[in-house]
Amino acid sequence: MQMSEKREAPDLFMQKEIARLKEANLDWKVHELDGPSQSKTIVDGKKSIVLCSNNYLGLANHPKLKEAAVRAIEEYGAGSGSVRVIAGTMKIHIELERILSEYKGVPDSIVFQSGFAANSGCIQQLVEEGDLIVSDELNHGSIIDGCRLTSAKRVVFKHKDIEDLGRVLDQNASSARRILVITDGVFSMDGDIAPLDKITKVAKNYGAMVYVDDAHGDGVLGENGRGIVNHFKLEGKVDIEMGTFSKAFGVVGGYVAGSHILKQYLMNKVRPYLLSGSHPPAVVGACLAAIRLVQSDPSIVQTLWENTRYFKKGLKDAGFDIGHSETPITPIMCGESSIAQNLAQLAFVGGVFVLPIVFPMVAKGKARIRTIVTSSHSKEELDTALDVFEKGGKKLGLI
Ligand SMILES: *Cc1c(COP(=O)(O)O)cnc(C)c1O
Repeated sequence: MQMSEKREAPDLFMQKEIARLKEANLDWKVHELDGPSQSKTIVDGKKSIVLCSNNYLGLANHPKLKEAAVRAIEEYGAGSGSVRVIAGTMKIHIELERILSEYKGVPDSIVFQSGFAANSGCIQQLVEEGDLIVSDELNHGSIIDGCRLTSAKRVVFKHKDIEDLGRVLDQNASSARRILVITDGVFSMDGDIAPLDKITKVAKNYGAMVYVDDAHGDGVLGENGRGIVNHFKLEGKVDIEMGTFSKAFGVVGGYVAGSHILKQYLMNKVRPYLLSGSHPPAVVGACLAAIRLVQSDPSIVQTLWENTRYFKKGLKDAGFDIGHSETPITPIMCGESSIAQNLAQLAFVGGVFVLPIVFPMVAKGKARIRTIVTSSHSKEELDTALDVFEKGGKKLGLI
């Protein structure tokens, strides 16, 4: 067989795309941590205060979680041996779902390998041809992927805009058999909170299901970090409460909390649950320890909020524009991409690890440094970081 003249070298598309990304300075450079994820660790060979992890409660390297992981390995081994529905459900997998349901105040819950697997696996099973998905325009990529895997009609509403949600529902609801209204709980780029109380009210008027992705609200919002549903006192009103163990809980794993029938349905339908290996015992043990810890010690979440208020006030007092965050995610607005990149570089030299967030992750002209404090940062570390940002901000003419 002859090679077509049109046929290009098999990896040419990769070469071209990488060249384009490098040219635009949009290619990811991986930073290497030589040590655990904690408030201060070695990053790219330099001891740095970490202000860009999702380790909100400082649990990633917590002795109780490590101890629980080791214990689980000793009792159950290094791997689970199978997918959940064949031979990969151990006693601790069941225990984790029981403790999680109790913590969330729901009848039942189901754990997946990751939050990404939960969103991409569940959304596609909840709606199909003839149905409607209504999604906030700034929803997370894993929600977008989940929506793309369905044949349901998909429409977006303006970010957090209840009137627009009503308009979109009015225009599209009549022909839909089922409707799924879906939103992030806390939006990861701005740190703002979805008006879930109002969204739920509007959705119910149309007989829609409500699905919230609480990845950044878990362990952060609500009493003892129970999340956004508890924050708005919406227990029993949100059909699908999805979250993750990879952020505040310091480990890895996704989950959906809700009714018994929802769990039964998802465990029979979700492809990553049916077709991909279950969590190794160490992960499950550490997740269990994380929930037990936040349940028994309210001071961890309280410290997170004290640090959040302290750091936000420091940035504001220095004169920075910190957007409209309501959570420990605090952007330092820089405008131009180059300013954000330079500020991150100055911070790193000063011993603070943060990353610039630039187009296309955020709109053009809205480049920023995204800072995330944790409950394990000391006041001294926060003061050092504030000082470094103030000096850098002045140097770059931001403040
Ligand atoms: C991080 C994140 C996820 C993915 O969670 P993982 O458990 O890390 O896969 C999903 N949704 C949102 C909003 C997130 O921020």
